Amino acid sequence: MLVVKFGGTSVGDAEAIERVATIVRARLARRPIVVVSAMAGVTNQLLSLAHAAANGGLLAALDAIGDLKQRHTVTAERLLGAPAPQGIISELDALLRELASLAEALATLGFVTPRSLDAIAAIGERLSAPLVTALLLARGIPASLVDARRVIRTDSHFTQAAPDLPAIRQAVFDEVVPVVARDEVPVLGGFIGSNERGVTTTLGRGGSDFSAALIGAALRADAIEIWTDVDGMLTADPRVIPEARRIEQVTFDEAAELASFGAKVLHPSTIAPAVRDGVPVFVFNSRRPADGGGGTRIALDAPRRGVSAIAAKRGVPLVSVRTAEMLLAHGFLRRVFEVFERHRTSVDLVSTSEVSISVTPDDVARLDDVIADLRPLGEVQVQWDCGVIAVVGTGLADGGQYMARAFAALGDTPVHMASLSASGLNLSLVVDGQRVVDTMRRLHAAFFGDGAAA
Ligand code: ADP
Ligand code: ASP
Ligand code: MG
Repeated sequence: MLVVKFGGTSVGDAEAIERVATIVRARLARRPIVVVSAMAGVTNQLLSLAHAAANGGLLAALDAIGDLKQRHTVTAERLLGAPAPQGIISELDALLRELASLAEALATLGFVTPRSLDAIAAIGERLSAPLVTALLLARGIPASLVDARRVIRTDSHFTQAAPDLPAIRQAVFDEVVPVVARDEVPVLGGFIGSNERGVTTTLGRGGSDFSAALIGAALRADAIEIWTDVDGMLTADPRVIPEARRIEQVTFDEAAELASFGAKVLHPSTIAPAVRDGVPVFVFNSRRPADGGGGTRIALDAPRRGVSAIAAKRGVPLVSVRTAEMLLAHGFLRRVFEVFERHRTSVDLVSTSEVSISVTPDDVARLDDVIADLRPLGEVQVQWDCGVIAVVGTGLADGGQYMARAFAALGDTPVHMASLSASGLNLSLVVDGQRVVDTMRRLHAAFFGDGAAA
């Protein structure tokens, strides 16, 4: 079996959805399970209409719902002929009515909650999945819609729910496998799930990749294919480095580092379920249905390279705690990390000296509380607008040449912190936010530019 996931642009309009059918048809013998995102831009529109409704803008929110209705109906008509079949039209209408009553409820309430945001955000995938199912059926591909909320069981951490793996495995066998056994293609919305009481949750932005990986791992699928709008994982974000090149193969470890340091092409949690069961992940370009633009294979084994790719994350604060107490004392680091743990804030990078520790938190949502609790431990300094650049490669620490090249490329760029993981996989550099793009360019040119022997 094969899990085939299509991102927002890959289901973004009628032509894109038509390509989905071509890609799925070519895989029928491998028994595909299809996971789809909301149409491109829809999740953002849903979240902003939720905020508008809660902040006195109900009319604007209802207008936005009208636009969503128009876009989905027009797409259905282009794919299935006008007027579109009554079945799909009434399915879309029912979802849009549900959305309108959610918006009205928020307008009455006057504020949003994480739970209500999930109920609203989930509508995007609940709209796209029946549309894709209807098109597959219309093109003669036996397909069946499966409500992802019955499969992706999660905890109740709304907007960022954690999967319940045993429950998902059971649900995959109860809800998905029987469809495959009937020789039909199950189609599920990504990103969405439900808690143990059946209340709708989401896995966090970009979470459809994660849904695909969870289903792929539960099934011990032969592969998980992520179909998107670029030819694979590239040596850098092509929006920053237009000349970035496709990487044919990378290891799970490299891909996980790249995803968590800003390579948006994969949700950072995607790799974990695949690694656990050794299921390879492929990234392909859905605009090139025949060969996916070549694609990238992510697996346990891949050629060992000094540098495979460079990723960057912006808007990262650098938090430093300085205290003489740390000198020859023990227990200080524990106290610092306890503060982060208490506020459920994970830390990406750490560097210490005799009298100070600096960290970059992964998430700024609760940083004010973290800082307040750090103050009793020492003098706290925060540099708000930093960026982390991650230079990633399995052979990065083989000999000194790659490190030498990286530092030479930095020139006079001020670096606030540098950290080489002990595994020798990731060199992370913290620079000023406004230096991120320039630093990316320098590093990319040094490792992948003309004449660079990467
Ligand atoms: P989807 O909607 O298919 O999930 P995303 O927008 O989430 O697509 O992810 C694909 C985008 O990720 C690409 O268009 C590209 O701009 C961006 N990206 C960032 N870093 C990389 C990278 N190293 N390789 C490929 N794409 C990257
Ligand atoms: N539609 C969701 C988002 O935009 C999930 C996804 O596309 O992966 O975040
Ligand atoms: Mg994505």
